[in-house]
Amino acid sequence: MPIIGDLLASALAGIAFVGCGMTSVAPPPGSQPRTRRREVVVNGKRVKTVDVHAHCIVPAAAVLIDHPLEAPGLLMADTSTRIAAMDAQGIDVEALSINPYWYRASRDVAAQLIKVQNETLVEFCAASPDRFVAFATAALQHPDLAAEQVEYAVKTLGFRGVGVAGSVAGEDLANPRFHPFWAKCEELGVLVFMHPLGTRELEPSGRLAGSGLLTNTIGNPLETTIALSHLIFEGTLDRFPGLKICAAHGGGFLPSYANRSDAVTRCFPDRVGPLPKKNPTAYLKDGQLYFDTIVFTPEALRHLIAETGSGQIMIGTDYPFPWTSTEVDLVLNTPGLTDDERIAILGGTAARLLGISG
Ligand SMILES: [Zn+2]
Repeated sequence: MPIIGDLLASALAGIAFVGCGMTSVAPPPGSQPRTRRREVVVNGKRVKTVDVHAHCIVPAAAVLIDHPLEAPGLLMADTSTRIAAMDAQGIDVEALSINPYWYRASRDVAAQLIKVQNETLVEFCAASPDRFVAFATAALQHPDLAAEQVEYAVKTLGFRGVGVAGSVAGEDLANPRFHPFWAKCEELGVLVFMHPLGTRELEPSGRLAGSGLLTNTIGNPLETTIALSHLIFEGTLDRFPGLKICAAHGGGFLPSYANRSDAVTRCFPDRVGPLPKKNPTAYLKDGQLYFDTIVFTPEALRHLIAETGSGQIMIGTDYPFPWTSTEVDLVLNTPGLTDDERIAILGGTAARLLGISG
């Protein structure tokens, strides 16, 4: 709800500043409501804040497989509302991503869709280079094509990251058939942003039906938990030690209960399969896995950091979906952090990983 209030306030502010005699008229298309831009300062130092979890869509790509628009706020044709929300929340840069909806498309269609999508993302960012960067998209259902797409995206289009879902049309990311994609991501040094699409295989059973929007409330973090667990236990992170994956929503449930994954290797060593090279909890801390801040309370963020390390955490807002509009304050209010740690979480780590200049 707070984001709705912010947006209304932003829109009203924009109208109020248009000028005498025009107060009943909306700002012209393309103009930005003149929300006061919140500048985040830590110990006297202006911090460039970076949001690694912000959604958008490219209509010209979505139409190729008749994918519907999930929310008007995803559109980038007029970014004035989005930028007003960023200004109000103290977000300087959004790293845009698109939830993969194309994982069942044929090779030819997927190739065309990703081409249009990535080229348009570049245009979005070029129109406001100080406010937007983007994660490239790739057709993981065709792993060799996806590897080509990420290479082109990085070397030709200038992307520094790529987005993936938590599974690919029912197949886990740890499936060996995706190794060519991970190998390319490791080779190129790109940050992979992993966003769940929910645990759709559970939905026909009805276990997530009923009240509570459980398909999202627990289905989304559950998919992230499953994906990360397989990447650890199937040896994917051992095979590609240079991989860097940022998991949405604070890594789902895994960081809250990570020690159970260590315990199973001690308690059921004959049933756990080939052991990963390290204790499972070590993978949360050792530089391959990153996590956004969407965990809602300072205590939850404190705990996430205790399990992973402050250097593994970056701001996420989930814009335009109204899960939170207070991530900057969440970081500022989380106990036990040094100024340098807060600066890293607010934007320093994301800027380094995504090549955003200061
Ligand atoms: Zn999201």
